[in-house]
Amino acid sequence: MKYLPCLLLLLSPVFVSASHNDKENLGDDIVEEFAVPVLFGVDISNVRSDFGDPRGGGTRLHEGQDFLVPKGTPVVSPTKAIVTRVGTWESAGKHVYTANPGGETFAYLHLDEWADIEVGDRLDVGDYIGTVGDTGNAAPGSYHLHFETIDKHDVANDPYPRMTKEFSLEDKMDFLDDIFRDRRDDAEYAQLLLNAFPEVFKQAVDEDIDLPRAIEKLMDYEPEEEVPTVDRDVLMQQIAQLRLQLQILLLKQRILQLQSGV
Ligand SMILES: [Zn+2]
Repeated sequence: MKYLPCLLLLLSPVFVSASHNDKENLGDDIVEEFAVPVLFGVDISNVRSDFGDPRGGGTRLHEGQDFLVPKGTPVVSPTKAIVTRVGTWESAGKHVYTANPGGETFAYLHLDEWADIEVGDRLDVGDYIGTVGDTGNAAPGSYHLHFETIDKHDVANDPYPRMTKEFSLEDKMDFLDDIFRDRRDDAEYAQLLLNAFPEVFKQAVDEDIDLPRAIEKLMDYEPEEEVPTVDRDVLMQQIAQLRLQLQILLLKQRILQLQSGV
């Protein structure tokens, strides 16, 4: 038992240096421009910067950018990153924090669900973080992603000027494909996205872009033509009538034969 502290001392520098190296691997330079971190429902030309807006009745300033999109909209990492926190706080709700290039931290708050990620995971551009929700102090039903960029001195800055684009539709479908792998082709989630963003998937079809299998399956689905059901009693009645008619015909034929003396 007395060796345990020594063992921990021996082990801990390994962990610290590993995560420190990992963060250094992200590079010294911040990413100057990146895409909106929600995959659907945002037209960048219609987004207004709300960083610094008064909140809490003027008691504090808004330290991020909100994206008002339907519940369940996928959130992805706009840069390479390392997950540094996955948790729940009373005000932030379900959230994810990441270390990003240039010593920055990005925060994603009020999530409905987390992706299958944990602290230390490396994220590539477009990797799944979670889905948009209204957890924490978001007004119930006011689904939005609160996105924050924090510099290496721990000061939040306005992410708006750097979000100059959206991911291309091809990239979006590509990322979504990975998301569905993560979610094991969740049919319910596919239906939710298809209901919320039908035009996105229609456009992908029109442009001949591959869709995630779970979505494609739903789009291909056409209800089978209804086969008319036959009432057994009616059928038996019809058969009996036919039989009777046949017997009458045979009888008439026999009469004719007798009359003609055959
Ligand atoms: Zn916000």
